[in-house]
Amino acid sequence: MAEDRRSFCRFCGSNCAVIATVEGDRITAVRGDPDDPVSQGYICSKGAALGRFHHHPRRLDRPMIRRGGELVETDWPTVLDDIAGHVRRLIDAQGPAAIGGYAGTPAVPCASVNVWRPFIAALRTPSIYSTVSVDVPCVPLVSERVCGNPMIATQPDPDARMTVLIGVNPVVSHGHVFFMTAPKVQLRRWAEQGSLWVVDPRRSESAEVATEHLAAWPGSEFMLLGHAVRELLRDGADRAFLDAYVDGLPALAAAVERFTLDATVAGTRLPREQVSGFVAAIRKAGRIGIHCGTGISMGRNANVTTLLTWALHAVTGSLDRPGGAYINPGFARNLDAHGWTPMNTSGPGPASRPDLPSRLGEYPCVAIADEIDAGNLRGLFVFAGNPLIALPDTNRLIAAFARLDMLVLVDVVETASTPYATHVLPSLGQLEMADLVLWDFMNPAEYSRYAPRVVEPTAERKPLWWILRELAARLGIDAGLSAGIEHDDDVMRPMMANARADFDTVKASPTALVSPGRTYRWIDRHLPGGRWKLDDAELLDQLARAEPGDDAMLLVPHRQKNKLNGQMSDGTVNPRRPERAALSINPEDAAELGIADGDKVIVATASGEVTVPARLDPRHRRGVTSLPHGFGDHNVNRLTSVGDIDRLSGMVRLGAFPVSVHRAG
Ligand code: SF4
Repeated sequence: MAEDRRSFCRFCGSNCAVIATVEGDRITAVRGDPDDPVSQGYICSKGAALGRFHHHPRRLDRPMIRRGGELVETDWPTVLDDIAGHVRRLIDAQGPAAIGGYAGTPAVPCASVNVWRPFIAALRTPSIYSTVSVDVPCVPLVSERVCGNPMIATQPDPDARMTVLIGVNPVVSHGHVFFMTAPKVQLRRWAEQGSLWVVDPRRSESAEVATEHLAAWPGSEFMLLGHAVRELLRDGADRAFLDAYVDGLPALAAAVERFTLDATVAGTRLPREQVSGFVAAIRKAGRIGIHCGTGISMGRNANVTTLLTWALHAVTGSLDRPGGAYINPGFARNLDAHGWTPMNTSGPGPASRPDLPSRLGEYPCVAIADEIDAGNLRGLFVFAGNPLIALPDTNRLIAAFARLDMLVLVDVVETASTPYATHVLPSLGQLEMADLVLWDFMNPAEYSRYAPRVVEPTAERKPLWWILRELAARLGIDAGLSAGIEHDDDVMRPMMANARADFDTVKASPTALVSPGRTYRWIDRHLPGGRWKLDDAELLDQLARAEPGDDAMLLVPHRQKNKLNGQMSDGTVNPRRPERAALSINPEDAAELGIADGDKVIVATASGEVTVPARLDPRHRRGVTSLPHGFGDHNVNRLTSVGDIDRLSGMVRLGAFPVSVHRAG
């Protein structure tokens, strides 16, 4: 008999509440939960495909171990004993740094999988990596510099008078670092209550909803923001806010002085009246809420664009104020009650790459291949990640993985990385484990939500906490996973120690437990010295040297509706119309290159080339092409260069890099 069970989707940080229909051990349907006060019935196509993902044909059911060059199924005691033996031998031979851990996006925000970090930490290895350094390291870097906390991030207030979305297309992606459910509803609200500006080289789905679209040249967006800061400091700044809460204004003012109207028009390649109109609109609105996406964080000048976002929020008195930039203190982390001790999480890179930084206790992912090649990293745990798709310079990484003594993949389905594994451990999928929303601070509501298991695990799949507890016991390390843990709840309960309500109260709530309203002005009480700091010397030095570039043709990232980065690029969401890789190109550029719609084209850089069909798209500005990330057979990372690294964030440029395009054959 069919039964409806409540849960929430964990594919992205929106964490939409769902109702899954279960018949026996089959998930037959998934729909949005209309009673949930946060997501209010909304789910996207990916959430609706939760059942198909659960029953994925390449779902991992049994542990595997490599024997005689082949991955063969085995039992849990055998695979765990073997991994523990490898770990012990490698640590005995050359110390804990020989073992590393890499966490993919699905392993980051979910409470029930948040156990990987304590396990890796218990090994006492510094070799920790995650996708934070793949597509978003500018955010923690700049947050740490301006307020001493890398985990503070702004989002446009739902009631913002003027909203600016830069290099982000929430209608398709639901955001980046900041996530929203029902994005079209929110975007329309922003447009109707004030103005919504979308800065994107492509007239994206979000730009269609906006009141204004600025097709700035990719990598030049910092000039638009710098010009606005410059002009407002002359006329229109919130002087009371600046005097009360901001340090470093003289240095900032000097740094933006070069962004005259002429320079900004030339750099952004925008019409003069659009640049002037942008500044006039800010003056009229007073407060502003800005959100940047991967178009910024993966591209050229990511750090300085992020810094100038903070600066423009400060100059308009918008930080942590209604109608401006909302900073969610978080229901679970409850930062408005507890505050934080100022942090500097920057440190040196790994032995083979001392030129790179570490941050948040992690080395940048670009160093993984160097560390393996240098013989420093010999065993790697991969938690719910697909590094061969996500990380730059795929060919080199494949060769490096082949040299590892141990590559342990803990995942739900096979990935492009599976053929290189020495051990494969099948973990529970999201509908098989209880979970808790912990990262509401990336959402416009202050809430938490508990989801019980929708179905009991089948085959030999195990919870991550069970896998790591068994390994920790074999290794004699304390990963904080005691033998007394019997259920997902036992792992999650302590994670609510600082929350606004305890675990059992959240669990007892049939839908999301939401704090009323939004908390503003809380951060004034906790800022180090009571002030935002806008004159970090290294960031201002980068700003002084930042240029928009003069390349003839760039390639930018591009999200697709029915997949999420590397996840579900195989047609799980819509098997009849799977997402495909194609190069989107302006028709006039295509005509000049002799390319027709559907032609096979070769996209090339000094690092490599990818052959894909061309899709003529008049929404692109001239000179800008796009190719989605996340495909194994048309992998953008074959085009990226590990030589093109930002020295402050340690990130390889994965977007807005120069390419050449020509017709194949
Ligand atoms: S927006 Fe889509 S992918 Fe993200 S949580 Fe909601 S249903 Fe899942």
